[in-house]
Amino acid sequence: MRRAFTADVSTDSSNSRDWLSPTRVWRLTQCPASVGPVVSTSVAALKDSPNAGIVAHRAVQLWIKGDGYRDADPRSRLADAISAALAEFGGESPVGWPTTRARLLSRSLEIAELLVTGEHVESEQVLLDPVRTLRGTPDIVVLNTGDAAVIDLKTQTFKEESLSPSIVFQLTIYAYLVELAYGVFPNQVEVFSLNRGRMPIVVTPATVANALATVEQAGKADKSIANPSPETCRYCRRRIDCQPQWDAAPLWPSRDCVEGAIERIERAANGAAAILVRSPGSLQWVGGIPGDLVSASVGARIRLVRLYRSDLAGDSGGFKWSPQSALAVNPATMPA
Ligand code: SF4
Repeated sequence: MRRAFTADVSTDSSNSRDWLSPTRVWRLTQCPASVGPVVSTSVAALKDSPNAGIVAHRAVQLWIKGDGYRDADPRSRLADAISAALAEFGGESPVGWPTTRARLLSRSLEIAELLVTGEHVESEQVLLDPVRTLRGTPDIVVLNTGDAAVIDLKTQTFKEESLSPSIVFQLTIYAYLVELAYGVFPNQVEVFSLNRGRMPIVVTPATVANALATVEQAGKADKSIANPSPETCRYCRRRIDCQPQWDAAPLWPSRDCVEGAIERIERAANGAAAILVRSPGSLQWVGGIPGDLVSASVGARIRLVRLYRSDLAGDSGGFKWSPQSALAVNPATMPA
């Protein structure tokens, strides 16, 4: 019989407090201004078009919730969970889904082997430290009496064998939150990459103490200092408003953002729109934008972020909308 494992956390995980996720804390350590206010309203299609990673994470969550990993045939139970997850998001396959789905299924037995070692497995449980206002949601926590494992599922393709400092920091904070919630320090902390498999991380009480010291120092930093860089800015919630980022981006070798005045709008039969954006010294097409997001008129000022470069022949230098992209029309913080 399984023992009941209960996380000892505050239940107030609402947005009434300005909780800091490990990702936000890491960005704060790189750029103090990232915790500043968001002024402009942006629109994105992410809610309607989840990316492959979101669907894969939901599938694993359903698989764990239904104890599918303990089944005699965990792979087919995961296939069922994948279908259920996809249906929850409207049934349409996101970009890159066939590869992500195939990788996830091919790793199902490896993941199941990790999970069945636990008396109890939690998936996507929100863990809080109200004192430091830290909030983390580890993908998987495998619990036994006296030990625990933290597993973070990564669906993106890892080209390198090593993990970035931001991922190591994220999992170190997760280990801290797990100890706070369950009273047991994780003896196993790892990334499970769908293309590389298990990628263990060394987390000790000393590395946790260092990470918490970093959090404390970051909290004291001068919030007026902005340090724009492609990696730090990419998912910053202040991107649309942040002028230092817009000043720096034209010099980035592979920038993913465009701003300027709308010169022309073209709409395709499939509903997608393309916008020609004029900025000082350049004229850029941004294509593949969901038509319902383009309500602006020619002459309006626009900022678009998290685009990717179009490689289509004859379209060199152009940009394309991605499921993570966002845009804002006439943002108040954009100079006239
Ligand atoms: S957009 Fe970049 S520079 Fe601006 S606050 Fe965010 S991380 Fe800092």
